Amino acid sequence: MIKNALSGFVTAWQGLMLTIRHFFSSKKKRNVVPVSSDNYFKKLEGTNTIQYPKQQLPVPEVGRYQLDVEIDDCIVCDLCAKVCPVDCIDIDAIKATEAIGQTSDGTTKRLYAAKFDIDMAKCMYCGLCTVVCPTECITMTNQYDRSVADLGALTYAFSEMTAGEAAEKRALLDKQLAEKQAAKLAAMQKKEEGKA
Ligand code: SF4
Ligand code: SF4
Repeated sequence: MIKNALSGFVTAWQGLMLTIRHFFSSKKKRNVVPVSSDNYFKKLEGTNTIQYPKQQLPVPEVGRYQLDVEIDDCIVCDLCAKVCPVDCIDIDAIKATEAIGQTSDGTTKRLYAAKFDIDMAKCMYCGLCTVVCPTECITMTNQYDRSVADLGALTYAFSEMTAGEAAEKRALLDKQLAEKQAAKLAAMQKKEEGKA
């Protein structure tokens, strides 16, 4: 019994000493070092936290953080939305009546993105969308601190089209389709008349 009590006392004393040691060492400031430093994971002394957001620990340039889309380089192929395991990319494509330009890698653009939303509250940061993108326009940035008070604010809208512009492009496409259909019918009718 005395042995157990002694052992308990020694254990409690060791725990207390550890706490006291960390209490005094916490006065030291943690150095902010780049992740490439050999010492990055060895900074065990000093404060557990840093003076965030005034002071921020550097993160790797290529990390799995907030997504960004360079919409001018997007060909609206929908591959990223299809591969997303949690369906957090919502794209509304409108076919253009003619080529509408080129991306920076020379790919011809034939679709407008009337909507290109990413719900970062649902995103699980797997990075699959960035892997399949043929023009590499959807990327993960080193931004990790976009805190919001409203969950809806975590849905990022990348489309630059207004509702009016989208309606105009849809109307142009409908008109072109109607004209093509009419031309096809006229050609068929002419063919039938030729047979008669
Ligand atoms: S990182 Fe993964 S979960 Fe997030 S949008 Fe891309 S594919 Fe979807
Ligand atoms: S995969 Fe790339 S090009 Fe295709 S819709 Fe997504 S972001 Fe745009």
